[in-house]
Formats: sequence, C-alpha cells, structure tokens
Amino acid sequence: MHKGYDRSIANYRQAQQVIPGGVNSPVRAFRSVKMNPVFVERGFGSKVVDVDGNEYIDYIGSWGPLILGHAHPKVVEAIKTTAEKGTSFGAPTELETLMAETVVERMPSVEIVRMVNSGTEATMSALRLARAYTGRNKILKFEGSYHGHSDSLLIKAGSGVATLGLPDSPGVPENIAQHTLTVPYNDLDSVKLVFEKVGEEIAAVILEPVAGNMGVVPPQPGFLEGLRELTEQHGALLIFDEVMTGFRVGYHSAQGRYGITPDLTTMGKVIGGGLPVGAYGGKKEIMEQVAPVGPVYQAGTLSGNPLAMAAGYATLSEMTPAAYEELERKGRILEEGLRRNAEEAGIPHHINRVGSMVCLFFTGEAVTSYTQAKQADTERFAEYFRLMMEEGILIPPSQFEGMFISMAHQDEDLNRTLEANRRALARLKK
Ligand code: PMP
Repeated sequence: MHKGYDRSIANYRQAQQVIPGGVNSPVRAFRSVKMNPVFVERGFGSKVVDVDGNEYIDYIGSWGPLILGHAHPKVVEAIKTTAEKGTSFGAPTELETLMAETVVERMPSVEIVRMVNSGTEATMSALRLARAYTGRNKILKFEGSYHGHSDSLLIKAGSGVATLGLPDSPGVPENIAQHTLTVPYNDLDSVKLVFEKVGEEIAAVILEPVAGNMGVVPPQPGFLEGLRELTEQHGALLIFDEVMTGFRVGYHSAQGRYGITPDLTTMGKVIGGGLPVGAYGGKKEIMEQVAPVGPVYQAGTLSGNPLAMAAGYATLSEMTPAAYEELERKGRILEEGLRRNAEEAGIPHHINRVGSMVCLFFTGEAVTSYTQAKQADTERFAEYFRLMMEEGILIPPSQFEGMFISMAHQDEDLNRTLEANRRALARLKK
C-alpha cells in the first residue's frame, strides 16, 4: 500500500521558499506529470525510499549515472577511502591519470581527455574547441537534442525544456543563438542542405549518437555514417555527445556500438559514478589546442576531483563487457514485456530501446525524430506515471526521457515492474 505523499508535499513547500521551484534542476519538479515531486530519503541497489517511507523500484538512476544502482558497496568504499585522504587539492593526482587511461582505453576515438564537472561544461568546452580549431562559428545540432544549458546549445533542446514546453530560453543573446542551426534528428537530407548553403561556416555537428532527451531515439541506419562523411567533406568536426550514452550503451559506448569515429566526444554521468563529473576528449591534435598546451582556455577548481574520479573508476571497473551483455538481456526483458502488455491492453504505443535505455511512447507511430516523439500523448503519460508511482515504480517523470536499467535491477524487479505496468495500462482512461 502506498503511504501517500504528505511529507514530500511539506518538504516541497518549504523548499520552494528558498530554491527556485523547490528544485535544483527543473525536471525534478514533476511538473509535466502534474504531481508534487517526491523527496528521496535514501537509495540502495535498484530501490529508492521517499521521505514518507514509500519504496520504489527506480528507473531514473539519477538520470543515467547509476549504472550499478544506488550506493553500490564498491563505489561507496572508494568514495570513503578517498575522502579520508582529502577531498580536493588543486594539484594533480594519480587517480586522474588512471581515470583518463580508462576512458582512453574504452572510448574508441578518444586519445586524450580533459575532466570537467558536468555534461554542460563538457559540451560547452568541446564547442569552444571546435570553433577555435576550425576558425568557424556555426554549430549544427538536432531538434529535441539536449546538450546541457550553455547558451549555444540551449536551442530546440528537448528534455526538460520540452517537458516544460518552454520556448528557447530567454537570456540567450540573439547573436549567439544565430550561430546554432537545427535540423530534425535522423534527417540526413536536411543536414546536406545546410552544408550546401553554409558548409564553410560550420565548425561542428554535435549530436547524441542515440538521442536520449526526446525519449529514446536510435540513429537510423546510415545516419551516423552520413554525418561522418559530410563533416569530413566540409572540414567540420563531428562531436558525439556521449554524456548519456557513454559507458551506458556498451563497453565502447555508442561510437563502438555503431562503429563511427567522431572527432570529439563529450562524457559525463556514468564516468562519475553518481558524483559531479564531465569530460571531453578526442584526437590529440585537436585536444592539444586546449590550455596549457594550446591557446583555448578552459579550467576548473574542482575538475578531476578525487571523489568523482574514485567513484567513476570504481563504477567503470565493475562494467566489464559481460556486464553490458547482462544489461542488454535485462533491457530485452523489459522491452518485450512492455510491448506485450501494451498490445494486450490495446494502448497505442511505440517502444524504442538501445541497451539499457528504454522508452515507452504513447503513440502508435514509429518515433525517429522529435516531431514524432511529440505526437505521443503526454496526458496519458502523466496518468500512467502516477499509477506507476502508486504501484511502487519510479520512472522518469517525462514522456521525453528514457528509463535507465542498472546492474542492480534483478529479474524480480523487472517482473514486478511489468506486473505493475500491466495493471497501470489496464487502468488508463481509454
Ligand atoms: N548532454 C546530454 C546528452 C545529456 O543527456 C545531458 C544531461 N541530461 C547533458 C549533456 C548535460 O549534462 P549535465 O546535466 O551534467 O550538465
């Protein structure tokens, strides 16, 4: 029996007095599902417990980082032993090199890598580098793709922005926004047209190799290959934003999974094991434009922070190739079960999955772009979300986000989730 939300509601009221909207990141406010947010008290393995004592099987997983689940003993241990030796020095540590070596070994296109503190910083810095390296200003991105909230990238940005139905954010100067061009995801013809028109001005194409901020949208066959070719032809850089997909969709990330080599890659989430982190890396020749070797400035008081490095390294150490196979298996169970249930309930649906990222769209049409994702019935999603909460299942509170499966999700969790899903779908307004 669900115990209700009294304490979460009280917490939320109090938080709103001192934090904008009561939250430190907009999607946490549960606005699009028309609920008050639940305040979390603790997490363990695949579960979180809210302040009212409700336990949920969690598929938010901190929005991607927690590939081992909550409070994994090895991660907690790594953080503890590291913290005992000091939390930050502003001087290099061996842990940073160990982490960089691990990233370089696993991320096929990355020869050297710089650590930062968030995905936003990673993409912002990668753009600056691409602009400096090419001497060009324009950026091409895709509608519904989110690359963090830096000015150049907060244009048609999906995710939280899509969820809240906000226009492109006020506060982004017109003369910065004008350098960001957007075309539909998976639409290579539109990319070609843009390159024909202004190819010489484009510094970089940036994309999520699997879009994860408009639900989950895999690249169509030929899309990534086409982008690689076009950027090469026109002297632009190809940037894979693997903040979400990095070390999530495979041992060699999305670039390994699809066999495409970008020039620059941005990372975050999983490599921090739940602590604040980001990174960008790529070809040595390009990365060595970054200070102190080169002139492109980028720095950070807490960059390469020992706790984040320790948590990230402990996480990656557990994520062997076999672990990714296990996630694939779990993903398949969830995908097949969700599809079977939706078919049985006669609910129009489309399910996209790549590895452990799964999205149930409430639309009967295939979803390969943001326009199609937006066809989904968000009212129905909101109702579904609330029913799942009552059933003790916490999924991301937006139709435009995927569920994240972790190593901590046991088959029993998946079965319970599918049972709950079956009951919730049956109760949806037809
Ligand atoms: N890029 C992608 C693909 C993301 O999914 C996100 C965050 N959801 C970011 C960048 C921004 O990362 P952060 O929230 O750590 O700034």
